[in-house]
Amino acid sequence: MSVNKRPRILVDAGGGIFERIGRSGMDISTLQQILLTHLHIDHTSDLAAVVMDLYMCDRTVPIALAGPQGRPGNDAAPENASPQPGVNEFVRLLFGADGAWRYMNTFTGFGIDVRELPSDPAEAAIHSIPVDEVFEDLGISICATAVPHGMMPSVAFRVDCDEQSVVFSGDVSQSTEALIALAKNCSMLVHDFSVPERDVAYGHLHAKPSAVGRTARESGAKVLLLSHFMPAIEGELGGAIDIVRREYGGRIEVASDLETYELR
Ligand SMILES: [Zn+2]
Ligand SMILES: [Zn+2]
Repeated sequence: MSVNKRPRILVDAGGGIFERIGRSGMDISTLQQILLTHLHIDHTSDLAAVVMDLYMCDRTVPIALAGPQGRPGNDAAPENASPQPGVNEFVRLLFGADGAWRYMNTFTGFGIDVRELPSDPAEAAIHSIPVDEVFEDLGISICATAVPHGMMPSVAFRVDCDEQSVVFSGDVSQSTEALIALAKNCSMLVHDFSVPERDVAYGHLHAKPSAVGRTARESGAKVLLLSHFMPAIEGELGGAIDIVRREYGGRIEVASDLETYELR
């Protein structure tokens, strides 16, 4: 997200975004906050490249990073049996003293200020993330709530800037009261739109079009920006959007790479 035409917040860092940032010509040296909705590979595999780029730009202050807490294993549910790391452990495994890319610590000023957010979707609270003075001066505030996404601890984010607000669902398997509350009257809801209404492989991890429409309608989002298309939905996007329209009467946009979406 850019504010006053300068990149400030990066939401997720999946494979390909580093190339896309380069192709866009964007200078991300002004980035102040990275938000990770969850730690699936398609949301995090370019994180190290982004972090490296920041410290190749003479950055001398830590980058803030917020994302979900981990969760313990659950022997009663085979698909949840293994414990999942939170962002603290994830960053430590990448950049810590024993991390794969520990050499980054030799870069002047290198640092990542990690903040973990509650990620149990049974707890529906909305948590605000402290911001620095620069964000306060720009009128930026950020909050998050836990959302269900199979075994993976996940959160959705809301960024408010003066009168405008954007909500990022991240990957979410259904419409929940917490997500609806987070997205209440937002200017734009960027929503996971991975699967069609019919059952498909791994479809239980993502909200069906009717559920996406319900969240958009009940939250009162002014614009719904659909993103995160998986092969299962790409060939039938039109039909899936028709199902959303049955639930939601607002403006619907379909996200595409390198596109800019302006809020005024
Ligand atoms: Zn995903
Ligand atoms: Zn995911």
